[in-house]
Amino acid sequence: MTSSFNPPVRRLMGPGPSDVHPRVLGALARPTIGHLDPEFSRMMEEIKDLLRYAFRTKNSLTIPVSGPGSVGMETCFVNLIEAGDTVIVCQNGAFGGRMKENVERCGATAVMVMDGWGKPVDIEKVGDVLKANPGAKAVAFVHAETSTGVQSDAAAICALAQEHGALSIVDAVTSLGGTPVLTDEWGADAVYSGSQKCLSCMPGISPVTISDKAADVVRSRNHKVQSWFMDLNLVMGYWSGEGARVYHHTAPINPLYAIHEALVMLQEEGLEEAWARHAAMHTALRAGIEAMGLSFIVDEDCRLPQLNTIAVPEGVDEAAVRGALLTRYNLEIGAGLGDLAGKVWRVGLMGQSATGEHVTLFLSAIEDALAEQGAAINAGAALPAARAILG
Ligand SMILES: *Cc1c(COP(=O)(O)O)cnc(C)c1O
Repeated sequence: MTSSFNPPVRRLMGPGPSDVHPRVLGALARPTIGHLDPEFSRMMEEIKDLLRYAFRTKNSLTIPVSGPGSVGMETCFVNLIEAGDTVIVCQNGAFGGRMKENVERCGATAVMVMDGWGKPVDIEKVGDVLKANPGAKAVAFVHAETSTGVQSDAAAICALAQEHGALSIVDAVTSLGGTPVLTDEWGADAVYSGSQKCLSCMPGISPVTISDKAADVVRSRNHKVQSWFMDLNLVMGYWSGEGARVYHHTAPINPLYAIHEALVMLQEEGLEEAWARHAAMHTALRAGIEAMGLSFIVDEDCRLPQLNTIAVPEGVDEAAVRGALLTRYNLEIGAGLGDLAGKVWRVGLMGQSATGEHVTLFLSAIEDALAEQGAAINAGAALPAARAILG
């Protein structure tokens, strides 16, 4: 007989999922009710309001899409893009490549703005490509590239798109709740995120917000959205507050309790306070890492506080270090992807994983693992440096 699955208790400091607070796990275990129950509808309205708070928007079309961040991404593309459109896609890491895939699968043409892994999107190049492609339907970019730990200038890219009459599609999966996502201030048209990064909910829900202008584009398409499940014209019938809700698909009831709780916790802390906490924890981690003699691969002015990309020192077996952290300390960190595979560790300080405890545990554990391999580090320097910042 197969027995129950009891996962080990880990500290999650990779590129997501992040640690989930017991309050959120508790919400997940509350009684399942019907997805058309009036009490459930009431909670759905609260989730929409809480998401507007997190996204800094007044957009009425602001909903938690049923599915991981990738479904939120695909929802934005399949609804806004039609066959024959031209879309400018900025790629500076792994996730921009997925945007290109999405555009091409919509039957549209992706014009790429390429920047190196570890570099932000080059604003000048975006402007040039927009000039060279009048009539481009949209500009798509990743605000916080989780594959490299780089933040790009979302305000500037959205402004350029607007200037050229193009929509903007923003991947804010790793930024929402961790660094400022200012949907209305930027004039962003479609922004999607994920539940398991800085919101510290379990994976599987994707917050999405769509501007009124973009919602009109969805309503006035020439052809039906090729995905029945992601067609916002149908999904809106279920999530719109006005009148009777129309059954579309059965909402993931308990996961929605969980995202509700995670967003309530964000509101209790305050969005600005959450941004400040992520920044402070990054500063403490950096102090420790640099005191130890390790370094970051991303320039300071575009470094993400919630995703720290640390160079693997010469001669160190990076996988063995990750293995030691997991087996000895129950601590998960991420490996490098693509161009950075084998060269970096990706250390997440996302949501509930952005605490002083996480910072000091990681510094202690990596020092232990590096010393074991005989790496040349300044032993004993990291914790005092981090503590000086943490207080
Ligand atoms: C994690 C992530 C995604 C994908 O989210 P899933 O929930 O894994 O589907 C997309 N974009 C970025 C920037 C991410 O970090």
